[in-house]
Amino acid sequence: MKGGALFAAHARLADGWREHVLLEWDADGTLIRVTPDYDGDRSTIPHAKGPVIAGMPNLHSHAFQRAMAGLTEYRANATDSFWSWRDLMYRFAAKLTPEGVGAIARWLYIEMLKAGYTSVCEFHYLHHAPNGQHYANRAEMVERVTGAAASAGIGITLLPVLYQFSGFGARTPNPDQRRFIHTPDSLLEMLERVRSTYPENGTRRYGVAPHSLRAVSRETLTEMLAGMDRAFPGAPIHIHIAEQTAEVDACVATEGARPVRWLLDHFDVDARWCLVHATHIDHDETRALAQSGAVAGLCLTTEANLGDGVFPTLDYLDAQGRFGVGSDSHIAVDWRAELRLLEYGQRLTRRERNVLVSVTDSHVADRLFDAAVLGGAQATGRPVGTIATGQRADWIVLDPDHPNIAERPASMWLSGAVFAEHGETPVLDVYVGGERRITNRQHEDEAVAFADYRKVLAGLLDPN
Ligand code: ZN
Repeated sequence: MKGGALFAAHARLADGWREHVLLEWDADGTLIRVTPDYDGDRSTIPHAKGPVIAGMPNLHSHAFQRAMAGLTEYRANATDSFWSWRDLMYRFAAKLTPEGVGAIARWLYIEMLKAGYTSVCEFHYLHHAPNGQHYANRAEMVERVTGAAASAGIGITLLPVLYQFSGFGARTPNPDQRRFIHTPDSLLEMLERVRSTYPENGTRRYGVAPHSLRAVSRETLTEMLAGMDRAFPGAPIHIHIAEQTAEVDACVATEGARPVRWLLDHFDVDARWCLVHATHIDHDETRALAQSGAVAGLCLTTEANLGDGVFPTLDYLDAQGRFGVGSDSHIAVDWRAELRLLEYGQRLTRRERNVLVSVTDSHVADRLFDAAVLGGAQATGRPVGTIATGQRADWIVLDPDHPNIAERPASMWLSGAVFAEHGETPVLDVYVGGERRITNRQHEDEAVAFADYRKVLAGLLDPN
């Protein structure tokens, strides 16, 4: 690729909608010039088919769980909760092969691109064979996932998970967790191995994901972070933090503090950190998390599906907290649904409308979109999230003829895209690093990828 240029009649830049924007990028896929009000000759420059907005980073994904979406929506026990869902998920995970994980991830990443997600943070914990033994290539699983992202053409921040214990107090892992287990040393060795096969570049970065406070100890987390500082300085750090009230209670009982409070008190939580599912936080934690500069990773459709709870979004945004969205278990792969549910959770609990606005932006969808691309970008640790010089050439072209966009003014385009749910997606074309990966809602490999995914699913669901 030699770099390229695109002329957009309308593009949403850091300062809002601008007209006649010329986008130019280099051979590496980085924007070298963004020129609003361009009045030069544009007869030879390709034109975007509709309004251009930044690509959305997806800050939390467990790729293999895509294959389970919609398979656990029935009550099999007297009580049904996150924890009974997790049992089912573990049984499913036990059957997965490296080929299967690769095929599921490839299909999922194509679905993400079609939805307008241009980056994914993969929180990857399925490391070993079903008996807990290393594969001959210890990086086999991470390489499958990284390879799937490269093949689909999505940007990736790969976050291999450090998982050591089944609960607070360094409890021995359960047999169904043996595919996940690593020490800080073995995890680092695996990361260095995958980096030698797939080096970091404009579309790929490595970080680390201590699974949760219940799955690591203070000592091992300290050791892991020190190792990362040596081998991957500045790398993103993601952690599941307070998804369930049971884990908050267990943390208070064993560590003497709520999870977010405990983490902030014991580690230098800063802009490198993404706290996924900071669902259950009190008033002080809300303010402290906002002040830390870390990103809250919100996964609204999954949190709703699993019955997790409602994050105190209004208070957190009032405290200038940063957030991004993730599709997590992939019950939905659609950032528009995440933003809609973020607002609807507040509307339903407060019995008000248009809650999550700011003093400078009275349009909910615009405010949440701009915040989610920036927070999501921070979580990726990559230069994405705005259409500006020096950033990756990642963006979405909206369909100007979509029923919820056509004939409306620019100030209503994101509202129509996010809140109105009619017919097909308004995401028409999607560019990643200057390459058009989605054209007219299609990915060039989607038929083959779906056939492969289908074959894997058939095997997983075969009772024999
Ligand atoms: Zn998760």
